[in-house]
Amino acid sequence: MAMATGRSPIRVLVIGGGIGGLCLAQGLRRAGVDVQVYERDESADGRRQGYRLRISPEGEAALRACLPPGLTKLLTATANARDDSGLAAYDERLTAQWAPAFEDPRAGRDDKIDAVDRVTLRRILLAGLNEAVHFGKDFERLEQTSDGRVTAYFADGSEATGDVLVAADGTNSRVRAQVRPWDVPHDLGIRTIFSRIPRREAIAAGLPEALRDRFSYVIGTDGHHLGLMPMLFREPPSRAAARLWPSAGLEDSDDYYMSVFNVHQADLGLGDEEFFAMSGEELCELVIERTRAWHPDLREIFRFADPSTAFAVALRATRPVETWDTCPVVPLGDAVHAMPPSGGVGANTAARDAAALTGLLAAVDRGERVLADAVRDYQKAMVEYATEGVEMSMRIAEWSIKRARG
Ligand SMILES: Cc1cc2nc3c(=O)[nH]c(=O)nc-3n(C[C@H](O)[C@H](O)[C@H](O)COP(=O)(O)OP(=O)(O)OC[C@H]3O[C@@H](n4cnc5c(N)ncnc54)[C@H](O)[C@@H]3O)c2cc1C
Repeated sequence: MAMATGRSPIRVLVIGGGIGGLCLAQGLRRAGVDVQVYERDESADGRRQGYRLRISPEGEAALRACLPPGLTKLLTATANARDDSGLAAYDERLTAQWAPAFEDPRAGRDDKIDAVDRVTLRRILLAGLNEAVHFGKDFERLEQTSDGRVTAYFADGSEATGDVLVAADGTNSRVRAQVRPWDVPHDLGIRTIFSRIPRREAIAAGLPEALRDRFSYVIGTDGHHLGLMPMLFREPPSRAAARLWPSAGLEDSDDYYMSVFNVHQADLGLGDEEFFAMSGEELCELVIERTRAWHPDLREIFRFADPSTAFAVALRATRPVETWDTCPVVPLGDAVHAMPPSGGVGANTAARDAAALTGLLAAVDRGERVLADAVRDYQKAMVEYATEGVEMSMRIAEWSIKRARG
């Protein structure tokens, strides 16, 4: 293995300011490494990003490793207040089916972070990065320079050059499209409608006690599946931010359920063009229409879904997960290991990548490692744990297809 000698400060360019890219930026900043993030969205609130995120023990450890202590405290203060270690499954008549308990080494810990609000998380991940995050930068292409560096070109005509370029631009990665055009995540044929249901209204309307405080999953014999996941803030985000990190700009949100409605393309009876053109109102209507034979208490819940929060996605997965032979272009997150959200580990895996890469790039910056060696070690470990994440998520997604299609 080649040994590096003397300090050799590097500049890291991160394409994509999502969960993985920002987590990496926080970690590198903490380690004193020069990092610049280029995000396509015009601002932090640029698009629908989903709602509640489950955080695994590994994901929590990675977030804690990357964030400075003040932001970790803020994330803890605004995390989900309820114990989230189980799942209760029902049929569409609300008859209990089974209720597996998941082992969670954090059980009973007051400061555990087992689920967070995604908008709050992204704001926390942006806090303190200020001039290191460049919004409105739509990456178009890259070129390697003769001295081994890499230049990124953006749609607005600007460019940036660094020693490392991290592809953190998500499932549809344009960086990947350039350097590995054949490597496209598989479409699993499952279509999902996400929405946000205010908890207070749902309970006032008679949401059954059993569905209120835990992750509930309804498996319809009609081929439709519904997940309901509560997000109850430990502390209102604005109050926690005022106490812990005033400039984080957190906004309050009421407690809510994230609802996930899965249907196989074949059961949907609609082409993708038509499905993905549907408005939030139409998506909510579709869910109400498809569940009209369900127990009235379940149907009632959707009356309170906020149509402006409803959006549709196609579930996709990278199989197999592979190393990229493209150093100094380095992959991270969904760009290299897309997986269906069914396992609740995609963001956690991106955070793990960020924590692992932070340690190795900091060692390169200090002159203790050679970049190519560090990147090879990162990818070797990443492929292993990311493959586990993809396969676990696939088992859950495939189970759902099988049950849905009989
Ligand atoms: C509704 C939903 C629920 C989920 N729930 C969970 C969960 O509970 N737990 C979990 O672990 N995971 C969950 N996931 C998966 C998780 O969201 C992803 O795995 C995670 O966001 C991946 O992080 P990332 O940084 O790789 O990509 P992203 O977070 O998607 O970020 C990519 C970023 O790159 C930017 N970008 C894209 N193209 C360009 C370009 N050309 N130029 C510049 N910037 C660009 C995008 O705007 C975006 O900000 C869920 C996913 C969905 C859709």
